[in-house]
Amino acid sequence: MDFDFYSVPPAYDLMAEKLHQLQKQFPFLRLFHIGKSVLGRKIYAVGIGNLRHVNLFAGAFHAQEWLTCSLLIRFLEDLCRSIEENEKKQPMSLHETLLEKGFLIIPMVNPDGVEIALHGPQSAGRYAGFVECLLKNSSVTWQANARGIDLNHNFDAGFCLSRQAELAAGITGPAPRQYGGQTPHSEPETRALVQLCISFDVRAAFAFHSQGEEIFYEYGCHTPAISRHIASLLAAYSGYQLVHQEGLASHAGFKDWFIERFHRPGFTFEIGKGVNPLPITDLNQVYQRLHGTLSIASLL
Ligand SMILES: [Zn+2]
Repeated sequence: MDFDFYSVPPAYDLMAEKLHQLQKQFPFLRLFHIGKSVLGRKIYAVGIGNLRHVNLFAGAFHAQEWLTCSLLIRFLEDLCRSIEENEKKQPMSLHETLLEKGFLIIPMVNPDGVEIALHGPQSAGRYAGFVECLLKNSSVTWQANARGIDLNHNFDAGFCLSRQAELAAGITGPAPRQYGGQTPHSEPETRALVQLCISFDVRAAFAFHSQGEEIFYEYGCHTPAISRHIASLLAAYSGYQLVHQEGLASHAGFKDWFIERFHRPGFTFEIGKGVNPLPITDLNQVYQRLHGTLSIASLL
């Protein structure tokens, strides 16, 4: 790659190339995929340390929110450099901590959606006409996967309540955003993440969205007591606002499902401020603001 990956939006092929390059540069990284999207694109995961017991960062659930992918990869690259430098000075300390803790990043949960957001319906292969038609009949931009299912409405946590809210908003079928599908976990991207969480013993999960400079940490009655403390710490460190959800304000999102299924801490970060898609030129500022917070979160 002969240009700065962080100066352009993370198209799927560029992201894949960047991840392979990082793995070559830092052999302790483990690069694999956890499944494939509707259109067969790999959903990549990059891990450090003990992958049987990890903290998970996942981004780009929503197509227009691809800046979260750039943020996570930039954080990963810096983390790898710190590990290398640390090894020279103090043999293995940071690396050892991470080896023990285990850390996993899924930078792009919704690769088909990101491609549609960046390159239009023609990037949706056999769904090109379908996507074009849904966009034509709507005034909003694309956030869903290639089948018009919003992945963050497709998880099995309050799914019926989420469906009711969708119907009340007039969303009755596949759409550019906010349609959760007929049944929970109907989408391969959702199932890949679910399977990963079950098989990798994820300690805490962090979902990255944009925008709003906010942190969410609650879902239903199974939110662990420690979640509030962790969220307060992360909010204080980043200056992001801690959002207390009134009752069950929203459902069927990844962090909702994670909390309900495992009774473990799950968080949503809404990064940056502005109108989606946040421009790639915002990356530096967002990263500077969140770098310390992400370091703390990765080591929890
Ligand atoms: Zn989102």
